[in-house]
Amino acid sequence: MGTISKAKVLSIKEHGSEIKEFTLQLEKNHYFEAGSFLQLTLEDKEDYTRWPDCRNFSIASAFNDEGTIKLIIRKVGVYTARIFNELTLGAQCTVKYAFGDFLLPFFDKKSEICCIAGGTGIAPILSFCEQMKRENQLNRLHVFYSFKNEEEMQGMDVLNSLVPQGQLHLFSTRQEIEGISNRRISFDDIQKSGINLIQSHFYICGGEVFTSNFSKNLTTAGAENIYTDEW
Ligand SMILES: Cc1cc2nc3c(=O)[nH]c(=O)nc-3n(C[C@H](O)[C@H](O)[C@H](O)COP(=O)(O)OP(=O)(O)OC[C@H]3O[C@@H](n4cnc5c(N)ncnc54)[C@H](O)[C@@H]3O)c2cc1C
Repeated sequence: MGTISKAKVLSIKEHGSEIKEFTLQLEKNHYFEAGSFLQLTLEDKEDYTRWPDCRNFSIASAFNDEGTIKLIIRKVGVYTARIFNELTLGAQCTVKYAFGDFLLPFFDKKSEICCIAGGTGIAPILSFCEQMKRENQLNRLHVFYSFKNEEEMQGMDVLNSLVPQGQLHLFSTRQEIEGISNRRISFDDIQKSGINLIQSHFYICGGEVFTSNFSKNLTTAGAENIYTDEW
């Protein structure tokens, strides 16, 4: 059924004019798996009667005892524009959580975890990073992440501090940035990285074309564990 909780805005980081990273304080803090998403409504809602207009957002942080969560939201249409206007510092929204099956493997604690993210698709991957740190599993983690430009690089503090050296591959598609490839991620990048294509678990998150391209290429190459999340 999901937990319904009020959530208050503790802080907001802006990444250009289109992306905001919100840190929210949950009133009711229940456990959720890394990679889950929630439903956010701007209405004040307490009960389980008809759920009002809402949008889904991946939780960009792992569960913690303090009850704080992060969301990374891109303004694309009517409702996200409302969120940008109304969800100011100290404001409150209502969330229902947690949903989804874009989750780390429950039983396989050995194979590599390879995450491929485009833009705000990095959100669930950031929660994987935090979770894997907690489980002392970071050595298995590889991240391929592409973004438009420096302004839209999100979660770099988490990625730089948690993903092992040589296993974080960054791509800036529209701006030259020192030390970062100035192009899109190609399937060749994944193949040449030395990751075991058959056994690894691949998590692909981004737009429809982004996820379906990598998913098709990996399937053709014989990958057996592919999970996608797209929006
Ligand atoms: C499981 C899941 C997880 C998600 N996680 C995230 C997340 O972490 N972060 C995130 O930002 N989003 C996420 N989304 C997407 C999010 O739920 C919304 O669907 C999306 O932000 C659209 O919001 P909106 O209501 O503002 O757009 P709507 O007004 O509903 O518009 C829908 C689409 O129409 C197009 N559109 C609308 N208005 C315009 C316009 N003026 N010009 C051009 N195109 C337009 C856009 O392409 C837009 O995507 C997730 C979705 C799912 C299903």
